[in-house]
Amino acid sequence: MRESRYNIWVDDGTQSYVYNGFSGKVAAVPTAQREPIVRFLAGDDAAPADPALLHALVDGQMIVADGFDELSLLRRRYALTRRNADRFHLTVVTSLGCNFDCPYCFEAKHPSLLDDAVQERLLRLVDVKLRTVRALSVLWYGGEPLVGLTALLGLSDELLARAAGAGASYTAAIITNGYLLTEPVARQLRGRGVTAAQVTIDGPPEVHDRRRPLAGGRGTFATLLENVTAVADLLDVSVRVNLDAENVGQAPRLLAILAANGLAGRVGVHPGHVVTPAGNTRAPSARYRAACLPRAEYAAAEQRFFDVAADLGFATPGPPGPVGAPCTAVRDNELVVGSRGELYKCTETVGDGSEVVGNLLNWPQAGDRLMKWLTYDPFADAECRACPALPVCMGGCAYHAMDGRLRDSRCSTFRFNHEEQVRRLITRRARRPAPAGS
Ligand code: SF4
Ligand code: SF4
Repeated sequence: MRESRYNIWVDDGTQSYVYNGFSGKVAAVPTAQREPIVRFLAGDDAAPADPALLHALVDGQMIVADGFDELSLLRRRYALTRRNADRFHLTVVTSLGCNFDCPYCFEAKHPSLLDDAVQERLLRLVDVKLRTVRALSVLWYGGEPLVGLTALLGLSDELLARAAGAGASYTAAIITNGYLLTEPVARQLRGRGVTAAQVTIDGPPEVHDRRRPLAGGRGTFATLLENVTAVADLLDVSVRVNLDAENVGQAPRLLAILAANGLAGRVGVHPGHVVTPAGNTRAPSARYRAACLPRAEYAAAEQRFFDVAADLGFATPGPPGPVGAPCTAVRDNELVVGSRGELYKCTETVGDGSEVVGNLLNWPQAGDRLMKWLTYDPFADAECRACPALPVCMGGCAYHAMDGRLRDSRCSTFRFNHEEQVRRLITRRARRPAPAGS
């Protein structure tokens, strides 16, 4: 027997804990038991290791058989999830137009809306898929998806009816800038199966308004705060804060404002890393490179963000759980549908003509642009093979991995601060109220 290569140990002064990235489980290990376990694994049978604890560690895959090849199993997990034929997932751009004008936007936007002909073709593809899948899921995306609200609602009605007719489950979420996400709109979305919304707020008013203004320049902070507060109990709202060198010091002030408005415990908060892919030279992001943080710096900023958020009463995540193929870009049965019916594999490439992998009329059409995603292999990367974050990252962002300038941004922040992330999980568990009667 030996220790898993994906164990992360932390100690809170009174007790040790071990988190295993392969299983996602965590086990408490009395400090006095660490040494006996090490000796037991070294073959010292006389060592007084607690048998129940050893069982728990085997169960959590923290201890594995000598010949157990974790890398091969991860490779298999990646392949199986990449080919999952039970679920069809679509990211749908209802409008590549947007009412905002963010300087770091990575899309070369144009005011096209998903028209009737494209919707018809989309539904035909869904009908074909529903003959074989058991789950259909949709992420409404843009530009700004609520600029295309009419198409979103009409398509939702059709998708819900078709999924029900085929006996498949249906789930939906939306990524929106939040400006049009009023309470009546949130109710309409909720009635069409949308349960979760991500809204981006980039800092306190003067910071956010500079970074995420309306097209024309007017600020948006006040409207977003009003909307998020109004819809927080209708949808699972997650506030994303895009961080770079320009606003990273301002996140605590934003979190304090959200908390002062009663949103701690009602919405999720998480940072996002502003990166600017080289691909789309016509996008605003092509002129925004100077402010981006290196990935390791961003990982440290993420920690500080969650520390402040936890102190203010927001729920904060522990380490990411085990994953298979991590996103639409590398999964066979997932697509991004552009507003003109063009297809992409990666959301970050929307609006970039050189990344179009086909269209709704001729899908699937094999070609180099498609195959580069479907043959992307993190196990061919020596850094990934040796990385403690591999089970929870699985090669991260393929798009960034393929862009020499952004290679580091492909990584999960777990690579840089796994101990801190596990420590937060332990702290959160310790804060949890004890069950009644205990
Ligand atoms: S980042 Fe989003 S909200 Fe901002 S301009 Fe681009 S699409 Fe619109
Ligand atoms: S964190 Fe980076 S090196 Fe590690 S598995 Fe993910 S992409 Fe590969």
